[in-house]
Amino acid sequence: MPIQTKNPATGQVIRTFDALSDPEIDARLQRAIEAFRTYRNVAFAARGRMMNAAARLLEEGRRDYARTMTLEMGKPIGAAVQEVEKCARACRFYAEHAERLLADDPPSEPGRSFVKYQPLGPVLAVMPWNFPFWQVFRFAAPGLMAGNVCVLKHASNVPQCALAIEDVFRRAGFPDGAFQTLLVGSDKVARIIDDPRVAAVTLTGSVEAGRSVAAAAGRRIKKSVLELGGSDPFIVMPSCDLPQTVATAVQARVVNNGQSCIAAKRFIVHERIAGEFERRFVERMRSLKVGDPMDESTDVGPLATEDVLQGLEDQVRRTVEAGARVLCGGKRLDGPGFFYSPTVLADVPKGTPARDEELFGPVATLFRARDIDQAIEIANDTRFGLGASLWSDDERERALFVDRIEAGMAFINGMVASDPRIPFGGVKDSGFGRELSVNGIREFVNIKTVSIYEVARRGIGTD
Ligand code: NAP
Repeated sequence: MPIQTKNPATGQVIRTFDALSDPEIDARLQRAIEAFRTYRNVAFAARGRMMNAAARLLEEGRRDYARTMTLEMGKPIGAAVQEVEKCARACRFYAEHAERLLADDPPSEPGRSFVKYQPLGPVLAVMPWNFPFWQVFRFAAPGLMAGNVCVLKHASNVPQCALAIEDVFRRAGFPDGAFQTLLVGSDKVARIIDDPRVAAVTLTGSVEAGRSVAAAAGRRIKKSVLELGGSDPFIVMPSCDLPQTVATAVQARVVNNGQSCIAAKRFIVHERIAGEFERRFVERMRSLKVGDPMDESTDVGPLATEDVLQGLEDQVRRTVEAGARVLCGGKRLDGPGFFYSPTVLADVPKGTPARDEELFGPVATLFRARDIDQAIEIANDTRFGLGASLWSDDERERALFVDRIEAGMAFINGMVASDPRIPFGGVKDSGFGRELSVNGIREFVNIKTVSIYEVARRGIGTD
């Protein structure tokens, strides 16, 4: 895959970059390990000042950074601005709280034991294009505050975002080598993980990429965190506020042009209200404005690449051929760019792509359930386990959902979302490990147990 900016709204190639050569990769890894040797000793207060400076730079440059994102991967410009602001909030959160989150645990028995949290070294981050700033900052802000240094291999279609992020950390005052972007293809990832100077790896991306990164890390016994795909259920019960739930359902499906790991993808509705939900949901999906992502009034922009578009077209076609009904959409839009119309599928048979795979685009699937037990059963009938939401005012239904849902994140009457204050991550094929909050900052540290016993003072001549 070329390292290239291609505008998904037009299909035009804007700029192509040369991939780094092997000697250039080596030089960057050397710079990373040398930076780590001194950066690990920088005090939290000083790291925090640099992280706050990064937050300020993001806020000052929010419009430019947002335009770069929209140009490279097509998200609506308003959402891109919000993404930059969210990155700034994560920087501030970790600048303020990292020292407390990584403070030694208080002494306890046996002996006088306590726990220290120490940085590991250079951490490789293999990142996706869908939230080109947020995915990187949610790893880099806790990573740098913990005293690690970061090496970024970003998705090949967002090189200008990758370089802009490197520039933010440089201008914020982080030392040379503390955060580096490597413009390389995915074929170089295993080699970088193999390198003894790299301590650990985090990947956000597809299950296939996760598998190969985890295998490479496993060969070298290196810590890895995987944030992979999702097929989040959105369960709707009769006690919900239906108009508000439908409005959120549409937003939860088409957020980021439908290309979010935590977008709601399967809508499981109690049979008593299923007809009404379907009518309102389809009407709203049909009325979304699809078009130029630079236009503030656009709801849904293009898919990020021709490959993503073709993959989605193929998944819908095979699902419909197997018997699913198309309630709206179901096809790509004519003209240039990688646009796909907001789509709703019902009666989706088992064994079809819309049931078994992640749909990365504005395509929703509808299911009916006779009660909460069956709704949870349908929700869990997937290899993924990232987020899940329930829309209900019933205490018993809520308790069952929290207890039984197989997901890393369970939201009630709220859309699944990430926030620096709460852990983020999944189970099953959605990966392992957590980002954000205290859990995220403790993923890439040495949790060092220290036990001190007093010497029995029986020196020479005391007998
Ligand atoms: P992707 O194709 O897996 O790419 C993600 C990153 O991995 C890119 O940097 C890519 O590099 C690299 N990569 C791809 N194959 C690789 C391999 N075999 N070995 C090493 N690196 C490899 O995923 P994507 O299409 O960019 O992103 C969409 C996926 O990410 C979806 O499945 C989505 O659900 C998931 N995602 C998960 C989360 C989460 O937090 N759980 C968040 C966002 C997205 P190249 O670009 O050079 O190929």
